[in-house]
Amino acid sequence: MALEEYKRKRNFNKTPEPEGKVAPAKDERFFCVQKHLASHLHYDFRLEHNGVLLSWAVPKGPALDTKTKRLAMKVEDHPVAYGEFEGVIPEGYGAGIVMLWDRGTWTPQVDDVDAALKKGDLKFTLNGYKLKGSWVLVRTGGRYPGARGGGGDRSWLLIKHKDDWAGEVDITEFAPLSVKSGGDFEDILAEDTPALWQSHRPAKGGDAGAMLATIIERAAALKAGERASRSTSASAKKPAGTRKASAARHAKAPSARKSAKKR
Ligand code: MN
Repeated sequence: MALEEYKRKRNFNKTPEPEGKVAPAKDERFFCVQKHLASHLHYDFRLEHNGVLLSWAVPKGPALDTKTKRLAMKVEDHPVAYGEFEGVIPEGYGAGIVMLWDRGTWTPQVDDVDAALKKGDLKFTLNGYKLKGSWVLVRTGGRYPGARGGGGDRSWLLIKHKDDWAGEVDITEFAPLSVKSGGDFEDILAEDTPALWQSHRPAKGGDAGAMLATIIERAAALKAGERASRSTSASAKKPAGTRKASAARHAKAPSARKSAKKR
């Protein structure tokens, strides 16, 4: 399995992303979803297979509702080491902020993953913090109307199968934070040096640009330790310990997150 495309698109002198090595095969397969605020906010869905992470960019993120089919654009394989990455991509391809939104293990429901991929129908089980149970990735061959620029055979749909882990809850709204740090984008940004994000901010236009501008402001406030006094409302304050929260905490405090998001 090649990582040539991954490497070709990146300058490893300029990005903190790990340089890829093809990992040895092992029984337990890693999966992750990285919430990526780049030129457009999207969720990168990654399944470990043959020593790399098979990757799909899901603009709206996974849905637990079995009737909701989420467009998933197949993108280049990523190195397994990238799957734990959370941080800032300063410039170039994918410039922006990466949050480790979910991680865990996956199990194929087929004997031959390569054949399933070739066929365009991969059924699998996830065991993550947020995503669990049975899912399918189905290739649409670019016929999906939401596919930008046709999409060719890169267009797939990510669909939840009916089981105990399916439901109506909007998981991206309900559990928006990192499973690695417990933080939001601004917390991740605030962990880096200001020079990194001030001099290499990604594209300013569009929704993502506006979101990023807000996040940079919040990160600056966090860094200055002025978050409480700068907050526009008392409801914007996170309860003590929230920044160290695990995914389990999301389940307990959805209302707190909702009010925080309305700023
Ligand atoms: Mn991405």
